[in-house]
Amino acid sequence: MKYVVVSGGVISGIGKGVLASSTGMLLKTLGLRVTSIKIDPYLNIDAGTMSPLEHGECFVLDDGGEVDLDLGNYERYLGISLTKDHNITTGKIYSAVIEKERKGDYLGKTVQVVPHITNAIQDWIERVARIPVDPSGMQPDVCIIELGGTVGDIESAPFVEALRQFQFRVGHENFALIHVSLVPVIHGEQKTKPTQAAIKDLRSLGLSPDMIGCRCLTELEGPTIEKIAMFCHVGAEQVLAIHDVNSTYHVPLLLKEQKMIQYLSKRLQLGQMNVPLDMI
Ligand code: ADP
Repeated sequence: MKYVVVSGGVISGIGKGVLASSTGMLLKTLGLRVTSIKIDPYLNIDAGTMSPLEHGECFVLDDGGEVDLDLGNYERYLGISLTKDHNITTGKIYSAVIEKERKGDYLGKTVQVVPHITNAIQDWIERVARIPVDPSGMQPDVCIIELGGTVGDIESAPFVEALRQFQFRVGHENFALIHVSLVPVIHGEQKTKPTQAAIKDLRSLGLSPDMIGCRCLTELEGPTIEKIAMFCHVGAEQVLAIHDVNSTYHVPLLLKEQKMIQYLSKRLQLGQMNVPLDMI
């Protein structure tokens, strides 16, 4: 199983969901079976009790699960049918760990965020990633995990730590991270400092970006890409320019043009999964 994590920095609502579904869609064109997990670091068990004015409409899954709208994007982009367990919330994780504690599963132990909550998150991800989600009924090959919120928030800290540990649990060749950041345009100039700061924050938590998705009002200029690559310690081919488009269905094309799949194929050794790499 290959895992592609999409996280975000600088601001919320930066386009992680759209990038995550677009990445999944491109991997699907290689013939891979793709599933997805959305992590929402709030204490509600699900989105069903949240105000649509604050959170947007919730999306109702086939099993009745009331979840974040992003899961609707995944279902449409990837032609899959997800379950409520594909939406992990802080509430669900704590509730499961506290239930186990009451049953005596940790007898004698002090139950803590690390390792009990972080282990529960990793176990949950591994279990849910294997659930068949398409009509073939077969286990997926790739799982796209979107980490909601912004890296650096108190809320998402246990999930960031769980993912830091997870990269070692599953192995380097099975785990890639795409961090989405904002490149604001001030007085006509594309500014890279927020992205530099976001990547520094991410690295300080033990996660290194394999690709940096740069959301910008305008098309990213060559010098901006070079500056981000240099100051964020990645190659220019690892910087993805994602400017504002009229329809988010154009985003997969933007990513394809920038040879994102070639990079991910190399990074995740997709050639070993009988993927027709010469087709891309
Ligand atoms: P996040 O998952 O980070 O909260 P979303 O993927 O839900 O963000 O996107 C937030 C909003 O921005 C949505 O309305 C989405 O349609 C829009 N959006 C995302 N990417 C782009 C883009 N490249 N161009 C224009 N709008 C976009």
